Amino acid sequence: MKQVGALLRDSRRVLFITGAGVSAESGIPTFRGAAAAFPDGRTEEGEPFEHVLSGSTFLLEPELSWKYFFRLELSLRGKQPNAAHLAMADLQTSERSVCIATQNIDGLHQLAGSRFVLELHGNLRRIICPRCEYREYLESFEGMSPLPLCPTCRAVLRPDAVLYEESLPEDVFDQFEAEQTRGFDLIFSVGTTSVFDYVTQPILAATERGVPVVEINPEETLVSNLVDFRFAGPAGKTMQALVEAARSP
Ligand code: NAD
Ligand code: ZN
Repeated sequence: MKQVGALLRDSRRVLFITGAGVSAESGIPTFRGAAAAFPDGRTEEGEPFEHVLSGSTFLLEPELSWKYFFRLELSLRGKQPNAAHLAMADLQTSERSVCIATQNIDGLHQLAGSRFVLELHGNLRRIICPRCEYREYLESFEGMSPLPLCPTCRAVLRPDAVLYEESLPEDVFDQFEAEQTRGFDLIFSVGTTSVFDYVTQPILAATERGVPVVEINPEETLVSNLVDFRFAGPAGKTMQALVEAARSP
């Protein structure tokens, strides 16, 4: 804790790679937690979760996808940032830039005050029209039509979140790559199973270059044996303690 606190104190460019675990203490179930709510990982229609939330289902049966967009939104509704989101936002100073590359689609990092958030999988409540330029950020889906249509061109609207089968947002990934090229002096992986290569790659590259990497996750992951420091506690308590350690030399 002291060592990482000291690294944080001296850091000028910090990267946090975050996943569903960082929002677990805000009461938002992780992906596997949410899937567990369905017997055999299937929905009421007997379809796999991945099917109803796929790009092709949205095109062919948008009502079915929307039914589960509503469910997902309900699981985020009214949820507040927790100590982990707030600690990351607290670390931003005039001397230290903090970049957050998150797989979460809940917007809680921004709500906590983080200014530089790269949403690798988009944002559920940012609604876009696939046909025209219409876009809108909704605090809640309450009262919306079960099949919302674009007020401008009448196409079926959709969340600006990456569905299964879809490619990742290019502009966000270009920005992520540019930031990695500029380099970080400290990298954290918090609350993610680290199964995607775009999450493990920056960690591999950093360890090769000798940049310290810290993992916070109660469970072991694919990168656990590569990182320099590992905390097997919950994100909130651990991040709070690290910020404290960075403050008291
Ligand atoms: P995951 O559910 O596969 O894994 C979550 C990870 O968080 C696990 O490794 C678990 O050990 C860890 N964890 C659980 N509680 C924790 C805590 N209190 N502190 C720290 N770590 C904790 O999720 P994933 O790897 O992030 O990827 C699943 C996908 O689902 C992502 O692509 C994401 O877009 C999406 N998703 C998003 C949200 C959200 O926006 N909040 C929620 C669920 C899923
Ligand atoms: Zn439109």
